[in-house]
Order: sequence, then C-alpha cells, then structure tokens
Amino acid sequence: MGKVYLIGAGPGDPELLTLKAARLLAGADVVLHDSLVSREVLALIGARAKTVDVGKRAGQKLLAQDEINALLIFYAESSEVVVRLKGGDPSIFGRAGEEIAALRKAGASYEIVPGITAALGAAAAAGISLTDRRAASQVLFTTFSRGADGSAMDWGCVTATTTLVLYMPGAEYSEVSQRLREGGLPVELPCVIVSGATSAQQQVRWSNIGRLATEEKLPAPALLIVGRVASRQVAEISETLWSKHPEERIVPQVKLI
Ligand code: SAH
Repeated sequence: MGKVYLIGAGPGDPELLTLKAARLLAGADVVLHDSLVSREVLALIGARAKTVDVGKRAGQKLLAQDEINALLIFYAESSEVVVRLKGGDPSIFGRAGEEIAALRKAGASYEIVPGITAALGAAAAAGISLTDRRAASQVLFTTFSRGADGSAMDWGCVTATTTLVLYMPGAEYSEVSQRLREGGLPVELPCVIVSGATSAQQQVRWSNIGRLATEEKLPAPALLIVGRVASRQVAEISETLWSKHPEERIVPQVKLI
C-alpha cells in the first residue's frame, strides 16, 4: 500500500506552496485535486502523474464525497505516492475530516501537508493584520453556508475585538449584511471583500456591514474579513467605533467587551 498526502495548495500564488508540497507534487504517481487549485500549481505536477479533477465546477459536483473517498482508497492500494490536493489548507472547510476517516477505516496511511488558508492569503492581499493588537484579540474562521438559517454561527463568542473571516459568503451580500446586523454588529463596522486572493485576478473591496448590502458581487472564490482590523484606519476606528454606539453594546446576541 502507498501513502496518501493531503496537501494544501494555498490560495493561488504557486510561490506560496510549501517546499514539501512542491516536492510531493513533482514525484506523485496520482494527484486528485479540487477545481479551486490554480493552474500554476497544477503545472508543478510531474509529467508521469495521473491527474484527476474531483472538484466542483460551476456549482456542479463532479464527484460525490463518497466517490472521492473510494478513489483515494483505490489509488492508495495501487500506487505509491497519492496526492489529494486541496485549495488553501486541507483542514479548513476542506472536508479533510471525512477523507481521513475513510483512509483510517481502510487502513491506508496518510499525512497532512498544511497550506496557506484563504483567510491568510486574503489578509495579505488587503495588507492588514488579522490580530492587529490595537483592535483585535481573536480570529474566527467561519461560514454561513453550513446552515440555511445561519445557525452555525455562535454569536456568543463574537466580541468587539473579534476578527471574523467569512468563507463561502454566498451569492447575496445583502443576506450576509443582514445576518451580520442581526448578529448585533454595527453597520459602520468595516469589512473587506477579497476575491482571488494572491492570484493574478486578485480584487480587494473596502466596505462596511451597512454598505455591504449593495456592493457589487466580486468573482468567486471570495471571502469577507469583518472587524475593526478590516480597515486602513485601524487606529482611528479602534478608538471611536464602539464608543460612538453605546446602544449597540447591549445587543443581546453579542457580548461586547
Ligand atoms: N480549504 C480552503 C477553503 C475551501 S472553502 C482554504 O483553506 O482556503 C472555499 C472558499 O474559500 C471559497 O468559497 C472562498 O470563500 C475561499 N477562498 C478560497 N480561495 C480563495 C482566494 N484565493 N481568495 C479568496 N477566497 C478564497
């Protein structure tokens, strides 16, 4: 039996790949990759490797998760170096958990090779610090797409010094804006939309929770960074934003500090 490497391809720029990922891609026998992985990264796959796109395209799943798991096990039994290549980091909204469980059950050996998750690529693209100590004390990587009603978000842990990174923000920014407001976040709270972070198509749009509702949609993949750090005037915002809105300190869903 061979070994399966769950590898993070990073957010787009091939230079953000780890040396280990690049080495394994060059020497792989089989590579199963998601559609999110950039063309430049795919170009680093060795010529003798069999390459399978198991990702989603235009919202259509090419393969179901069970089928991907079965393929991984099949190749682990018949090849030496099997690479499962995922955008960003495999363990962040990447379904690595399900694949690891299947590999374990089948007795296949595996190793995770971390990658730069989109949140970090997006922060770099926007030129901001997710934990800028003047304005933030914690970061929450989250998504609304886990539950139709947004119940996946535990608003109780969101404070005035939380930076929220919203993966898979969905088609409607107006809906995202509404959910954030319903969560008790002030309309003036800055947010930044980053699309195609670290790729040639990268776009950065500065906004706030109120204005987000009417922002023009940026191309996928895109994510949102929400919080006081999502601004080029962090210091000024840090001092004024929350004290200007004392009434918002008693929104029941959010414990503001
Ligand atoms: N495992 C990946 C995330 C997969 S979920 C990671 O760690 O980054 C897919 C979501 O990630 C997209 O809907 C988008 O919100 C975000 N994403 C991935 N690549 C991105 C990029 N280059 N720029 C902005 N957002 C990105």
